[in-house]
Amino acid sequence: MDNLAQIFTQQDELIAPVGAYQNEYEAIKALHSLSGEKRQRFQNLTRKLLGDLDQPHDRKAIAERSRMWRNKGNSLFRSSAKEFGPDAEAERVLGACRLYTKAVLVAEDVEDELCLAFANRGIALQEYGYYQEAYDDCANALEFGYPRRLQHKVIIRQAHCAAKLKRTEQLAEHIACLEKMQLNERFRQQLEDLKENLEMLRGQSSSEKSVEEQEKNHPIQEIVCQSGSRGRYMIAKEALPQGKIIFREQATCFVPLEQRLICQQCACSLMCAPIPCPKCRQRVVYCSRECRERHKSIHRFECIAYRKDLLKMIGVSHLALRMVLSYMPSMLQQLQECASSAEMWSTLMTLTTGADKEDEQTPQYLQSLRMISHLDKAPQAELVYHMLCANLLQVYLKECTDFFDQFQPLSASLEDWHLIVAALILRSAGQLLVNGHVGDALLPVNLEANEFGLLQSEMWQKPRHLQLGQLHNLSQTEPLTAINLPHLSICNHACAPCIRTKFDGCTAVCYSAVDIEAGDEIFNCYTMDYKKSMLRQRSRPLQEVYKFECSCAKCTRTDPDQDYLKFHRYRCENESCLREFVPEPLPHQTNLNWWLQSPDAAEASVCCPVCKETQVFAWYNDFMCLIDSCGEAKARRELYKAFDGVDKYLLGHHILKRKLAEALIEPCFAEMDEGCVLDDVDYENLTRIVETQLEGTAAQSGGNSMEYISQMTYLWDLWALSKCKRSEQQLQEMKGKLEYLAAEHREIFENYYNDFIEQQCK
Ligand SMILES: [Zn+2]
Ligand SMILES: [Zn+2]
Ligand SMILES: [Zn+2]
Ligand SMILES: [Zn+2]
Repeated sequence: MDNLAQIFTQQDELIAPVGAYQNEYEAIKALHSLSGEKRQRFQNLTRKLLGDLDQPHDRKAIAERSRMWRNKGNSLFRSSAKEFGPDAEAERVLGACRLYTKAVLVAEDVEDELCLAFANRGIALQEYGYYQEAYDDCANALEFGYPRRLQHKVIIRQAHCAAKLKRTEQLAEHIACLEKMQLNERFRQQLEDLKENLEMLRGQSSSEKSVEEQEKNHPIQEIVCQSGSRGRYMIAKEALPQGKIIFREQATCFVPLEQRLICQQCACSLMCAPIPCPKCRQRVVYCSRECRERHKSIHRFECIAYRKDLLKMIGVSHLALRMVLSYMPSMLQQLQECASSAEMWSTLMTLTTGADKEDEQTPQYLQSLRMISHLDKAPQAELVYHMLCANLLQVYLKECTDFFDQFQPLSASLEDWHLIVAALILRSAGQLLVNGHVGDALLPVNLEANEFGLLQSEMWQKPRHLQLGQLHNLSQTEPLTAINLPHLSICNHACAPCIRTKFDGCTAVCYSAVDIEAGDEIFNCYTMDYKKSMLRQRSRPLQEVYKFECSCAKCTRTDPDQDYLKFHRYRCENESCLREFVPEPLPHQTNLNWWLQSPDAAEASVCCPVCKETQVFAWYNDFMCLIDSCGEAKARRELYKAFDGVDKYLLGHHILKRKLAEALIEPCFAEMDEGCVLDDVDYENLTRIVETQLEGTAAQSGGNSMEYISQMTYLWDLWALSKCKRSEQQLQEMKGKLEYLAAEHREIFENYYNDFIEQQCK
């Protein structure tokens, strides 16, 4: 990272002064037209940076490390945990999958080890019941050179998995292959069984598929976009009741955030058998071979950049690069006849007009090309930074990949294409600064970036079925993707959004968050909304990033912070006052969360505006002290009492009340995970406290928010663990929240509900 900063500083000096900004094309052209010697030095710096990023690669050490993990996997897998009951059995098989996964990842491109690691993981996955993944691992083992004389073992396993998955074609193919091989008696017998299986499957096939396909079709179209002096915006064609799906948008381009290993093709985050690209240092994985195949056209140009670890340094420009890589084939049709970069640029800019005819059917590259950008208003240093990133990526594509080969036969020169590609990367980066979205998902609590949710053996009892009391360990909301959603980006900002967006892999599903009338504008919220922030807190990012001052109904009313302050109502501690009040924020204060500030910060103090007495909040420290010993039943009883006691000072759905609930619930569950046994009094009190917390969250963030659903996991665990009755209405309402989960999570929640909650209520 320092390296990048150093080089950029030196390059910045070479290009100064940068003239007035006109557009992305002119900005990059200026870089390309530096005078002779300067240009040479500028280019050398870029090449030096790319060269310096190469990392040593010790194949012998890699092989040893992979073998070490595989051996650990083997000894766990062959251990006799069977004798110790079902928990130990899950730990044995899933634990082995986890160790083999480490062997797969660290093997990198040492294929002798890689193929063995895949083969062994396949065995464990099959035993656990992950047949699809086991099937893929057999194919992986064969792909990476599994020893020929043993291949029949892998193929027969693949056939078994195909049979489990009811895939007749694949099964037939593997049987045909096995028939040509020399097999011993045992394998002959297995082959005969597989053939019988195939006949049986052929007898019963078809019918099932069509239902599934029907369900996937969900055409709901109610949007028009209008252009005019206000730019583009979105209105509802007809009345949309709350909770209706307004549109779905599948993103062509996203990148994982913070080095989290998620599938680079479908963005799924819960994996049990990640398949890495062996060539780029364990930085890219896929959930399946199919996803790996589909991502090839992009990854072939990114692989070396991942190997150099270049992409994590350049922030938003990585997604910008991906946009250019993804959209280039479509753009090429428009550009191939152009004779010069100037002509290409003007062709592209012509495409950006005519946005008034845009709808969801408009190709995504066109929608993206039309997104607004504020690079013209950016401070000089920021502009230069993005220019240098775009230049760096273009030089990378030229020096390290064959990306530019595709332009060789066309009329314009390669220099023209270098310029246009850099200009497009710069344009996309500028657009993403104001249009980029962040997709989130639930993940296991405290999961390391290189670990995988479905391999955490203490959580699972069988594939995608959690153990009793484990749902709360799936409650961490994490931003996972930076994602380009040009259609959603058409929505303007308001501090009270009309939509709620669910991220399901790389698909965004937009629901109406309120009742929307026909003809109403559909607003998104780009920052914290009016209930979660004071005007002064959210207006800063809106000005700095999005370059506007919000004039929405919430911001322009006389008392713009009233809805925020509702969650900060106190009763004065002074016994002779006891008046209700909300603190008056000091001029520089952007929030009222005094408990998050360091205790010695003077400005954190809260004063009663009636009697002027500073509030001491002694009860707060008392409460926090008790939490340390929540492993003891007695301390927990005191905590429950203390929690009720703060009602005297914290009024309504005070946000601190929810923070206290969280501070209490999490460690109690952690104690439970550690083996601490809770009784009915605990369950009763914890249920009541989680319910209080959920009410507050529903009031401030909405009952379908991720925040709500993540806290709901605690309630579901309590329901599953304790034997008390739930009303049918309560159950239905809670089950309805699952709509707002990504498909991969929803399945797990539904399994949990069916395994532990529903049957108990009968
Ligand atoms: Zn995938
Ligand atoms: Zn790669
Ligand atoms: Zn506003
Ligand atoms: Zn007072």
